[in-house]
Amino acid sequence: MPILRVALNVPIDTLFDYATTEASPSDIGLRVCVPFGARKLIGIIWDVCTETAIPADKLKSAIAVFHDIQPLSADLMALFSFCSKYYHHPLGMVVINSLPAKIRSIKPPTLKSEIQDVVYLLTESGRQVDRSSIPARNTVMHKLLEALSGNTQLDSQQARKISAHTVKLLRQWAEKGWVEEKHDEILSDTNDSTRKLPLPELTPEQSAAVNSVAMQFDQFNTWLLHGVTGSGKTEVYLRLIAKALSENKQVLILIPEINLTPQLESVFRARFTKTVIVSLHSGLNNTERLHGWLQAQNGIARVILGTRLAVFTPLPDLGLVIVDEEHDSSFKQQDGLRYSARDLAVFRAKQAQIPAILGSATPSLESYHKALISRYHHLRLNHRAVKNAALPRIDCIDMRSEKPKTGLAGQLIHAIKDCLSQQQQSLIFINRRGYAPVLLCYACGWTATCRRCSSRLVVHLQDKKLSCHHCGHREGFPYACPQCGDPDIKPFGRGTQRVEETLSELFPAARILRIDRDSISRKNAWQKVRQTIHRREVDILIGTQLLAKGHDFPNLALVGILDSDLSLFSTDFRAGEHLFAQLMQVSGRAGRAEVTGRVLIQTEYPNHPLYQALQQHNYDALAKNILAERKIAGFPPYVFQALLRAEAHSVNMVTDFLHTAHELACSTVEDMKNKNIEIFDPVSATMARLKGMERAHLLIQSGSRQELQLFLTNWHRQLNLLPSSKIRWILDVDPVEF
Ligand code: ADP
Ligand code: ZN
Ligand code: ZN
Repeated sequence: MPILRVALNVPIDTLFDYATTEASPSDIGLRVCVPFGARKLIGIIWDVCTETAIPADKLKSAIAVFHDIQPLSADLMALFSFCSKYYHHPLGMVVINSLPAKIRSIKPPTLKSEIQDVVYLLTESGRQVDRSSIPARNTVMHKLLEALSGNTQLDSQQARKISAHTVKLLRQWAEKGWVEEKHDEILSDTNDSTRKLPLPELTPEQSAAVNSVAMQFDQFNTWLLHGVTGSGKTEVYLRLIAKALSENKQVLILIPEINLTPQLESVFRARFTKTVIVSLHSGLNNTERLHGWLQAQNGIARVILGTRLAVFTPLPDLGLVIVDEEHDSSFKQQDGLRYSARDLAVFRAKQAQIPAILGSATPSLESYHKALISRYHHLRLNHRAVKNAALPRIDCIDMRSEKPKTGLAGQLIHAIKDCLSQQQQSLIFINRRGYAPVLLCYACGWTATCRRCSSRLVVHLQDKKLSCHHCGHREGFPYACPQCGDPDIKPFGRGTQRVEETLSELFPAARILRIDRDSISRKNAWQKVRQTIHRREVDILIGTQLLAKGHDFPNLALVGILDSDLSLFSTDFRAGEHLFAQLMQVSGRAGRAEVTGRVLIQTEYPNHPLYQALQQHNYDALAKNILAERKIAGFPPYVFQALLRAEAHSVNMVTDFLHTAHELACSTVEDMKNKNIEIFDPVSATMARLKGMERAHLLIQSGSRQELQLFLTNWHRQLNLLPSSKIRWILDVDPVEF
């Protein structure tokens, strides 16, 4: 009797065996509905075999195997296996959670007719195929030829009724020229009305980058496309995408922000009018996501643009992988399976033996380090692409001598005034939303804090609420200090809303637009905002990091940066790297076209190496500096880290658990006789309390990734045996937050 070995979405890292009446290896990768306890679950058939360790009276039978869509490919399954092993996360959870919700349901989705996309027709040479030359045991081939004979068209759903694998077979036949694939309206029409513009002539730096990658297009390499803001990295992507498309390949492009998709999508659509482009991100509803995913799997979609989850998209003809803004920490998933989409993208490129391009103006130090040691190829674009567009001039305003009441230095106010008089736009960057970060009692020093988190409540004046930016808790303003009863409680410090208030008092005639997560929460709101900016319907922008990423604002002449000093002295060893990247990005918004840009940074530390490097646009100096420090201190990228994160309702429970884990780690290292693993003592997380949970962690690091992995596998096995009903814990490999 055949046995199906099934991956299920349960927190146990094993496959589950089920009996079935009929199965073949070709069922591997298909969805199956099985009984699990009192429930029914959807799983993926991982293997088909004939033996099981489960006694016959305990063995249950699978309920149904679904043939409605193609099985997951061997490559994709290998990606899931790698991901499960590397991140020490149960395989079934990795697989099922990466699938579109609609095919995770035990009720198979009704596939809309528009997904039936392609029809197949025998060509002349297909009709001349000698059927007697095909072995009789190839029943699928015979059935398919029969079904197609006499000028019959088959769509993919009809084809799949013959066998789950006919679509794959048909595509092979298409390559051989036996059948013709006809795409209906989806392929021929991309609803695109943009006229074709002549391609811009590449700058010498762009050409060199394109040529280097193009020359090694059929092999795996990771290319670090390191180009200053405005150097035209997108054009480099476009040329290489065009090459991949002309070779009949699919392209995967990962970007950090859902806000960036419409912008890039329209650039791609304008360039590739005949190509099906899908974007996959969290803003889609379940049907849209399923649709995009299936189009990628069927090979109809040729360009897939998405945020991190898109790295798990089935792509049968993958020929090029691009990760834009590769330094962005949102490529790292921060709960559940804590994967790095950037690293998995490189894995996929390696798997498919194709190029991976990581693009950034400020590469992550991990990637930069790999470029320095020649693990990655370093491609540099040191100049802006648009003729006469120079990098902006960056100056610090020394705030040690000036303590303006408004929070804005005289020099900055002047500069804004100048911009207004010349009808140019300015942007004030402050990475803190709300009105003020603190509500303070001036009598006793009390501050409003969140009951559920170790954080202060942020003052939101517009809706008269105090809000926790970590758990979402909101409450009304107290009338007096809850501690001493004094009525003199006031907002302290500044957020975007307060800056907006100040600027409207200073410049009553200016059109001011605030951009943060409070003002842009609705879907598509960002697109409207972009139009407003491009049509010059706004004079002063105030924004958080939402504004810093990759947007192109041609009329922006001035960027003012407020309150960035805080990050200079953070306990997070990556804070400097992130601040530098962020400030480079915001500064890069200024002076992109005919307008010369100017950046003013308000700081009490104008001589700090970070600001010095920024003023000279010298990424390399700072990066090398930080790398040297990290090497001495033994931080990544010179070591590899894993974090055991634990949380529970009581501090003691967390501490006890982590101490036991610590002992286990020590004995594991001893058993392995491994001197290359460093085990740190448990400490509280930076946010020691979050949503009512007490949090702490235990750091492990090693100079060798392999040895760390070996250790983690052994340790993890033992951790799984610990009683942990009241503890939530997870291993975070290559953590970026502490
Ligand atoms: P980056 O992503 O590197 O910051 P972009 O790709 O946004 O830069 O390009 C910046 C600007 O330069 C865009 O307006 C783009 O249209 C323009 N551009 C890119 N390449 C060229 C080129 N070869 N010639 C002229 N303009 C170009
Ligand atoms: Zn008080
Ligand atoms: Zn909170």
